[in-house]
Amino acid sequence: MNMTLAETAGKLLRAQNVVLTAHVNPDGDAIGSSLGLMHLLRGLGKEAAVLLDDDVPKAFSILPGYEAIQRPEGERSADLLVILDTAPDRIGGVAKCVQADACINIDHHRTNAAEGDTYLAPDRAATAEIVYELASEMKAAFTKDSALCIYTGLATDTGFFRYSNTTARVMRAAAHLMDCGAEPHIVSEALEQKPYQMICDTAEALQHIERFADGRAAGIFLDHETTERMESTEGFIDFVRVIEGVDVAVLLKAKEEKLCRVSMRSKGTDVSAIAASFDGGGHMRAAGCTLKMGFDEAKKRIMAAIADRLEGES
Ligand code: 5GP
Ligand code: MN
Repeated sequence: MNMTLAETAGKLLRAQNVVLTAHVNPDGDAIGSSLGLMHLLRGLGKEAAVLLDDDVPKAFSILPGYEAIQRPEGERSADLLVILDTAPDRIGGVAKCVQADACINIDHHRTNAAEGDTYLAPDRAATAEIVYELASEMKAAFTKDSALCIYTGLATDTGFFRYSNTTARVMRAAAHLMDCGAEPHIVSEALEQKPYQMICDTAEALQHIERFADGRAAGIFLDHETTERMESTEGFIDFVRVIEGVDVAVLLKAKEEKLCRVSMRSKGTDVSAIAASFDGGGHMRAAGCTLKMGFDEAKKRIMAAIADRLEGES
């Protein structure tokens, strides 16, 4: 059942011992909204912990509470498990590790089809925006710590207030969080730092850009050998996204011999529908999926699906 914001806040307020989690391969919104809600709940005198079943990128160590993030190990009990920024199927081993009396799912992904107690708000730019709204609903005061974490979620999911999900409401929330002590330059400076090797890898990846569908789509396709060699592919897709005439941008990387990860971005086409046709999901303009097949086949399939979708629209 989709709860109201007030019902969601009520569930949080009634719990004393809360475990928060988010999706594997955590991004700024997953990390920022988990830590932000953790600080808010602690401020209300509750026990709150963040469990993530993945490495948390070091760049986020500027966030207060980063060092307190734990991996799911052994068993632990809680009054309430809160799943943020994803449906419950992408939290790795957390579900198994946490014996909770109740569970709620708070998310802004339009493809989230979770059942149970949910608060799904696809019109919100970030899960952090929902956490921001929950704060006033719970009458929890922002501190410098919670403000910086929630600000980070807003900033990263809106491409630092540039994407089409940037609303006046998001800007007002960000301004309020600055009033509460969040300093934007701390986040942007930490996140724009890149190791030298990553710049070299980017230069290599740019050699692999291919345009297709009459130039309305373009992608970077990295075979297994290349993917293995690269430390990170973060940001590669942004180079493709900005090519003139390109509506759909894609990054495909062969993580294993028979497993490819796909990220897509678009200026108009609904890429979440393309991702969903491969059992993935996401948003209209940013989505992803996993193809359990070899590089050549995956590349062919994803290019065909994108070209078909673009054809259907023209
Ligand atoms: P990214 O390309 O940055 O990994 O993901 C873009 C968006 O699509 C994110 O909002 C992310 O949560 C979503 N997404 C990426 N991969 C998957 C997937 O395999 N399944 C689902 N449901 N969503 C995904
Ligand atoms: Mn998000």
